[in-house]
Amino acid sequence: VISVVDLKKSFGKTEVLKGINLNIKKNQVVSIIGPSGSGKSTLLRSMIKLEEINSGSIMIDGEALVENGKYAKPQNVKNMIAKMGMVFQHFNLFPHLTVRENLEIAPKMAKMGTKAEIRQRSETLLAKVGLSEWMDAFPGNLSGGQKQRVAIARALMMEPEILLFDEPTSALDPELTVEVLQVMKDLAKEKMTMIVVTHEMGFAKEVSTKTIFMDQGEVVEEGKPDQLFTSPQHERTKAFLKRNL
Ligand code: ATP
Ligand code: MG
Repeated sequence: VISVVDLKKSFGKTEVLKGINLNIKKNQVVSIIGPSGSGKSTLLRSMIKLEEINSGSIMIDGEALVENGKYAKPQNVKNMIAKMGMVFQHFNLFPHLTVRENLEIAPKMAKMGTKAEIRQRSETLLAKVGLSEWMDAFPGNLSGGQKQRVAIARALMMEPEILLFDEPTSALDPELTVEVLQVMKDLAKEKMTMIVVTHEMGFAKEVSTKTIFMDQGEVVEEGKPDQLFTSPQHERTKAFLKRNL
C-alpha cells in the first residue's frame, strides 16, 4: 500500500534522508528501529506530507503522492493523506475538548456521516480502547497511557487504511506502556496495516511482520524480525542491537 523510492530530504544543508526505499504491503505491521537522529520521524512525517521531500517518490495505493519530487494536485494529496492516521509520541490531543469531542471533531468537519453515526462510532472506539467511562473527561485528567489510547481511537475515527505511530510509548512509564502496546497488538490481530517507529524491541520482535533498521538517513537492513534480531547481517545493526536489546 505504500512504496517509497529513493526519497531524499534535507534540512538546510544537512541531508537527513539519503535515498530511502521501502515497500509496505497491506496487513503488514512494519517496525522501524534505529538510533536517535537517524531520520525515522522525518520519514513518517514525509508520508503524510508534514514534511515536504526534496526528491524521490511516495506511492500510496499505487497512486503518486509525490513522484520524482513533484507533488500531486492538492485535492489528490488530501485524499491520499486521508488514508493514513498518525499517532504521535506526545499525543497531540486538544486540551480544551473532552475525550469524546477529541474523537468527533475531525469526522464532523469532514462530514463523515450523521451526528448520530459519528457518536455511535466514537462510543464504539472508546469502548475498544477501554475508555468508555472517560468520555466526558478532559485530556488533562487522564494518565499518559489513557491519553495515548484516546489518540489511537481518534486516529481510527477517520477509518484509515494505514496507521503510523511515532514512538507512541516513549513518553510513558513502563506500566502505562503495556496498556498502549496491548491496544496496538489488538489492532495488529485485526490485520490493521501499521508502521511503528519504536524503541520497544519486544514489540518489534513479537508483533511486527517486518523490521527496518535505519541509521544516518539510510535503511541499513530490513527483514523478518526473528531474522533481523537473531542474525543481523550488517555491522551497524549488530552494534545497535547490542546497545539496545
Ligand atoms: P529520534 O529517535 O530522536 O526521534 P529520529 O530518528 O526520529 O530520532 P529525526 O527526528 O527524523 O530522527 O531527525 C533526523 C535529523 O534531522 C536529526 O539530525 C534532526 O536534528 C534533523 N531534523 C529533524 N527535524 C528538523 C527540522 N525541522 N529542522 C532541522 N533539522 C531537523
Ligand atoms: Mg523521532
